[in-house]
Amino acid sequence: MTYKTSILTLFPEAFPGILGTSIIGRALENDIWSLETLDIRAFSDHKHRSVDDTPAGGGAGMVLRPDVVAATIDAVDREDRPLIYLSPRGKTLTQARVRELSQSPGVILICGRFEGLDERVIEARGIEEVSIGDYILAGGEVAAMVLLEAAVRLLPGVAGNDLSLEEESFESGLLEYPHYTRPRVWEDRAIPDVLLSGNHGAVEKWRREKAEELTKVRRPDLWKAHMERKEQG
Ligand code: SAH
Repeated sequence: MTYKTSILTLFPEAFPGILGTSIIGRALENDIWSLETLDIRAFSDHKHRSVDDTPAGGGAGMVLRPDVVAATIDAVDREDRPLIYLSPRGKTLTQARVRELSQSPGVILICGRFEGLDERVIEARGIEEVSIGDYILAGGEVAAMVLLEAAVRLLPGVAGNDLSLEEESFESGLLEYPHYTRPRVWEDRAIPDVLLSGNHGAVEKWRREKAEELTKVRRPDLWKAHMERKEQG
């Protein structure tokens, strides 16, 4: 079944963009996922198709009007898909959430611009907010692409080797071990012997130790969560 994505944006021409390339683009061509863009501006019945207005209470910037955004949402066939507004106020996207989203029938993504959406449309349409990290972008389009790229590559038949997906950073709660390829010695640096030993058990043990080491040093937050999960069995 095709993973159906609908993108609500002021810049439909931005899509598929990078999502039209490589494995994600091939998956789009092969109907593993589909992409529908809705131009928010087309749903404005205001003068000059205006979509924004000044913030109530004053202050800098502009706010997307609730009536225009709601009219765009209401034009989409929801079909049990999560309705998400990319927003720095949302819960930060994680691999666990990405996996969950990849198992839904698809997603509907709203890309904000200016100061964002009028709060009332978020409430009235039961919109979930999702952030891609603690920094501010100029618009939600790149954030929507981040979410889509992460979710689509998990769809069956997209990444080719499902085993490589299982071993990746975060899937086990740990960062991934280091990778090496030929040449065997490069700028006086050799590939660790154990990786060339042909001893699969030893390789696995080495990788696990490296993953744990890296996670401990670089991401104490992940390490703590990993240890807690382990204790709980
Ligand atoms: N005034 C807002 C930021 C608006 S940025 C605030 O301080 O919260 C304009 C748009 O960019 C937002 O509506 C949102 O759709 C998108 N955006 C910006 N940063 C984002 C982030 N970290 N994650 C997801 N979307 C983001």
